[in-house]
Amino acid sequence: MIKFGPSGLCEQFAQSGMSHTIEAAAWLKERGLDCFEYSFGRGVQIKPQTANQIGKEFFNKGIEISVHAPYFINLATKEEDKANNNHRYILDSLSALKEFGGKRCVFHPGSPLKASRAEAMKTLLNRFEIVLKLKEENGFGELLLCPETMGKKAQLGDLDEIIEMCKMGDNNIVPCIDFGHLNSRDQGIYFTSDDYKRTIDKLLEELGESKVDRMHVHFSKIQYTANGELRHLTFDDEVYGPPYQPLMEVFYEYKLNPYIVCESAGTQTRDALAMKTYYDSLKK
Ligand SMILES: [Zn+2]
Repeated sequence: MIKFGPSGLCEQFAQSGMSHTIEAAAWLKERGLDCFEYSFGRGVQIKPQTANQIGKEFFNKGIEISVHAPYFINLATKEEDKANNNHRYILDSLSALKEFGGKRCVFHPGSPLKASRAEAMKTLLNRFEIVLKLKEENGFGELLLCPETMGKKAQLGDLDEIIEMCKMGDNNIVPCIDFGHLNSRDQGIYFTSDDYKRTIDKLLEELGESKVDRMHVHFSKIQYTANGELRHLTFDDEVYGPPYQPLMEVFYEYKLNPYIVCESAGTQTRDALAMKTYYDSLKK
C-alpha cells in the first residue's frame, strides 16, 4: 500500500499544544495519514524503552514509523576511526528502528571532502559493503536500509550513485529518492509526469520492480542555487518546485507503493495530506 506522512513534528502539531512524539500517532491518524519519519539528525539519543513505548502507540493507531539516521554520517571518510563511528551510527539507528517496530532507515551517503569524486565513491562502496555485513550480523537483515539522493552537487548521492549502492545489497536495500533534492541538483528538472517517468523508468530498469515498488520517497519543494539545494520550502512556493501532482499521477499509473515522507518546512503534515488527497482523487 502506498503511504503518506510527515518527517518530524510540524508547526501545526506544536500550535495545538502537543510536544511529544507519542501524541503524534493519534493526531496523524485523525488526519488520515499513514506514516511518520523520526529523525536522528543530531544523533541517536532515544532510550530503547521510550522507542518501544512510542512504537506501541503508533502500532495501535496503524501509523508506520521509519527513521532517518544522523546527518553527519559520511561513508566516504578516509579516517578509519570516523568510519567505525559512522557504521555504529547506522547500527544504532537500526536498533532504535527495531524498538519502534518500524522497517525503514534512511541515511545520507556522504561527501568526497578533499578526495576526487571517483575515489570517494570507491571508499564509500567499500565501507557500505561493511555496513551491509554488519547489518546482517547484528540481526537487522529484515530491515530496509535506504541510501538517499542528495540535493547539493558537492555531496555524493546523485541518482546513478544511489542506484550503484542499491545494486550492492539484497532485496532490502532500496533507494530513498528525494525528488526535491534531485530537482535542486540540476536546478529544475521536474515539471511534467514525463519528467518523473524518466527517473522512475531508469530505476525500474536498473533495480527492478520489487525495489522500486517499495522505494522510500522524500518530497518537498526546495529553493536552489547553481550549487544545488539551499533550503526546504512549503507547498505554497510557486517558484522552485517541483510540483507533486504529476509524480502522484505516475505512481498511480505505474501502480507503485512507495513510502512517501513530506519534508516541507513546518507544513509537512498538511502537505503530506495534500499529496494523499490528490492521489486518492485519481482513483475516482
Ligand atoms: Zn535526508
